[in-house]
Amino acid sequence: MARLDHNHSPWRRGTVRLAFGQTAEGRIVSIREVVSGRACGCVCPACEEPLIARKSGARPSPRADHFAHARDGACVGALETALHKLGKQIVMDELGLTLPAIAAEREGVRRQTHAAKHQVFESGQVEVVLPGVVADVVLRRRASDLIIEILVAHASDAEKVERIRAQKTSAIEIDLSKLPRRAGLEMVREAVLVSAPRKWLFNPAQDAVEAQVAQVLADRAEAARQKVLRQAKTLVGHWAALPCPKDGTDLPAVRGALAQIEALELSAYIDAPISRGAKALNVSPKACQALVLKTVVIDQQPWYGRAGLSVVALRERLERQGFLPPLFGVSRDAELIAAARVLAPDFNTPTGLIGAYLRGLETAGLVEADDGLWRAPLKVRQQIIQQARDARERQDRIDDLHARLDEILRRAGPEGDGFDSEAWLGRSGRASPPPRSVAASGGAAWTELKAAFGLIGEAFWRYDAAVDVMSLPLRPALERAEQARRDAAERRRLAAEAAALAAADDREARFRAAAMVAYGADAEAWMAGLVPPANLSSRLELVRSSPAQLQAALDALDRRVTQQRREEAQRIMAQEALADLWDAACAEHGGDWAKAFISNPDPRLGGRRPREVCIDPAGLRMCLELVCPKRAVRRGGSAETRQSAAPRRR
Ligand SMILES: [Zn+2]
Repeated sequence: MARLDHNHSPWRRGTVRLAFGQTAEGRIVSIREVVSGRACGCVCPACEEPLIARKSGARPSPRADHFAHARDGACVGALETALHKLGKQIVMDELGLTLPAIAAEREGVRRQTHAAKHQVFESGQVEVVLPGVVADVVLRRRASDLIIEILVAHASDAEKVERIRAQKTSAIEIDLSKLPRRAGLEMVREAVLVSAPRKWLFNPAQDAVEAQVAQVLADRAEAARQKVLRQAKTLVGHWAALPCPKDGTDLPAVRGALAQIEALELSAYIDAPISRGAKALNVSPKACQALVLKTVVIDQQPWYGRAGLSVVALRERLERQGFLPPLFGVSRDAELIAAARVLAPDFNTPTGLIGAYLRGLETAGLVEADDGLWRAPLKVRQQIIQQARDARERQDRIDDLHARLDEILRRAGPEGDGFDSEAWLGRSGRASPPPRSVAASGGAAWTELKAAFGLIGEAFWRYDAAVDVMSLPLRPALERAEQARRDAAERRRLAAEAAALAAADDREARFRAAAMVAYGADAEAWMAGLVPPANLSSRLELVRSSPAQLQAALDALDRRVTQQRREEAQRIMAQEALADLWDAACAEHGGDWAKAFISNPDPRLGGRRPREVCIDPAGLRMCLELVCPKRAVRRGGSAETRQSAAPRRR
């Protein structure tokens, strides 16, 4: 029986005001049954200190009526003790209550011999001291007793229940712990007598009905066990009839896996001996293990994010390969498998075989399991990537060697027909390993071998004593190659010439266009002019000769065009300034004065003529001050201030 945690009982928490007090006669009474104040004559049921009844009377009060301790003091057990005492008092007053049904239910099996019923008793006694236990109440009817335990905060623990059982007296426990804390007298009464949860702590009839349920469950379990045993016998029968597995290592998928395993030097990890049950697969352990190793360790390594593969997923892969006998087309539960193993020690399942192999790999450090998912550890995956890369590079070098040899023999033409490439590749030299091994190992020896092939290639172009290399009859082939090389060189030279001409024409066209912009009608004559200081070739010839010359000429033309534009802009600005000055002078002094002023040297301008000075806005201002000095001064203060401020104002 679970012990009730005190804190879970609402009677132990918070500060609900005490609604019950204890009279001088020891009875528990409700606040409603007493007069207000000290005159209530009640003490605390727990600490027996005097209580004051705080009653609002006829006045409306936000607070419920309650008892308060006369002397200040925290009395945490008051409410709990009051309820416990009240429960016992109600049972004693009534001498009757509802008894729990005699029934049991476990795992869906329910048996009942008596329904819950109201029972009336003849007498009762509280706080009855029995051997080893004090009963809250004992009720008696016709010489038979019933122990009543009231549960408020403390459930009867296993020890107490044992002591009660030892009395051989029927006992019930009434659980008031879930009663609302503001429960009034009537509610507590109804709960104690009828509705609060109650159960048998001891009752021979209750024990009997529980035994009945246990028997039903035991029968049911035995029937299930017998069923599993029958199924296991059938399974083992089928198992015995299974044929011995084929080798399977010649199947294409297995051959591929074995080749990869060999290349990665993992052969030691397959063909592990198995303790039992080889017949659970259609193929030999070696074939099965090769596929598992390839799937978990080799194929998995490029996908770092993957968590791994379950044994069930691996079993499905083997099933897709046709490695599972039809007998194992369905998976069976562990109980049946265990029963089959008892009947036939050799019995095993595909899953069992795969699991055992993976555990072996795990011991070897080649795989690890995480939450039932198998994968290679990061370090192993990295190693395999490195080994795969090495193997690929080794193969690339061997392919390269074959290609070089084939190229030599192709160039040799019919003269090379009798050459035995395979023998040459596998034959050791005087002090060197066979060429194929040299390529496989790489390193300095391989670099030397490649250089030797380079020399042979060279020999095709500069044939001389080198034709003796590899004892190949190469001379006619070398002569053909030399002719072809000369023809090709001539074709390349002609093509280069044509391309150079086209490029020169292109440069000329661009140069001509730029010259037209800068020189207009004079462009042709300018382009034909000789280039100083050497005066050996015309500008056009120079530009045709190289892209750099074209670029230099284009840059010079660009600068000239820019200069022309700048000069044009200045000329227009000077015209406008002079026109402004003319207008101002005519307006101030008349046309004749203006003509004379503009064309004659003026000492105030350092002896220059205004028309020479008035070529931009600054010159215009200087001249305007000479035409109408008063206005200029009036408008802008001193001449110096005006000049320094002028650019900003503009
Ligand atoms: Zn108290």
